[in-house]
Amino acid sequence: MSLSDNFTAFKKRDVPSDLDDLYNEAKDLDIKLNYRCPKGTYDDGFACGLDKTTKKDQLGKISDSIKKVVGATDVKLTGIQPRDAKIILDTLEKESKYIPIRLESIINTVARKSGGTMMINRERSRNGEMKYTLGISPKQMNDKNIFDRRSYSAMINNYRNLAASYNKQASTVPDSKSDLKRSILVYAAKAELEAKLLEKHRDEGKPYVPETVSSMFPPGAKQVEATTLHECGHYRWFSSLNNDDKTAVNNAYRNAEKDDFPSSRSKMNSGEWFAENYALFRLGMKADPIVEKIMKSKKG
Ligand SMILES: [Zn+2]
Repeated sequence: MSLSDNFTAFKKRDVPSDLDDLYNEAKDLDIKLNYRCPKGTYDDGFACGLDKTTKKDQLGKISDSIKKVVGATDVKLTGIQPRDAKIILDTLEKESKYIPIRLESIINTVARKSGGTMMINRERSRNGEMKYTLGISPKQMNDKNIFDRRSYSAMINNYRNLAASYNKQASTVPDSKSDLKRSILVYAAKAELEAKLLEKHRDEGKPYVPETVSSMFPPGAKQVEATTLHECGHYRWFSSLNNDDKTAVNNAYRNAEKDDFPSSRSKMNSGEWFAENYALFRLGMKADPIVEKIMKSKKG
């Protein structure tokens, strides 16, 4: 995970003025700190820290299965953990039972450009056919597998750990490289600031709103499943809603009360609102009644 990735994820909120300059300076920097899964087992039983050959072998098998399930000819899964690839495959397979899923390719660059963990891109080919690509950002997936984002206390803990890690890193930089040292310390201060802002919101009694449905889960398989379902919600369902259903979704989104949104992402637009509620519905959690009604009226 790179620090600049973190900064693009941060929204500038009510930053105290004395830290404003610090923020502006920090967001222009790009320092990479690598977080790696230690060799062993994930909480959900999957192996991690695999050697290169085993990893390549496992990803190859998963790629072949994905090709069969969604018809993709181009599958590039380098950079992603076999565990995550397997969850994507299982979710696509399950979804294909409700409605066929056809993806032209699965690659790991598109999502990085857009800033998301995963996304399905639509493109019209020369013969007028729609081509769909599932883009994956392995870097961001790894990030999500490290941070627990389920509560104020978890998020505060993340930022405090990040700050401690930057401070430690800065202490190893020789004094002759004072610019680098200072830059890393700026990142540490920024992470500390995020922790303080979260504490402020918590103390003011603001309810904690998760960033996405996937961040309602502990780091692990369920997050990947939720994100894959969210993308299927966009691609396979929202884009093909009939006019009545589309109107119902738009109205429900517009009329939703501030506290009714399940996640920050669902506040963005009616498409995101639908995709987030779709993920909740498929995960067997409480979704908006309109989305539940629409989905129950379909065979899936
Ligand atoms: Zn989305």
